[in-house]
Amino acid sequence: MHETFMAQQIAAELIRLAEQHKATRLTRVVLKVGAMRQVVPELLNFALAAVMKDTVGDGAQFVVEPVPPRCRCRKCAAEFEVERWSYLCPSCGSGDVAGLTGDELIIETVTFETDDEEKEAE
Ligand SMILES: [Zn+2]
Repeated sequence: MHETFMAQQIAAELIRLAEQHKATRLTRVVLKVGAMRQVVPELLNFALAAVMKDTVGDGAQFVVEPVPPRCRCRKCAAEFEVERWSYLCPSCGSGDVAGLTGDELIIETVTFETDDEEKEAE
């Protein structure tokens, strides 16, 4: 279950961010995860809740937004979303394409509380 490993990486980053901003509690975290990582959002959510237990992120709401993979055709420069793992350019039919996105793992926004106010970090 590689979601657990990812959750540990994300948790380490979130705790670092929390310390940097002197957050006392994380309330909401939005993550963008590329489809190439083949993450099951529910499993990642579950793993995150488990690894963030008893930390500053205990009880935070995690939102996992999948990012569909995108490619650019090297022949006609069309950009397209990959569907059903077909890497053929829909414009010209070329298979000579370059991947643009799909394996990202981004902490999009973090909402947290400090002693006196609620803030948002990018
Ligand atoms: Zn093309």
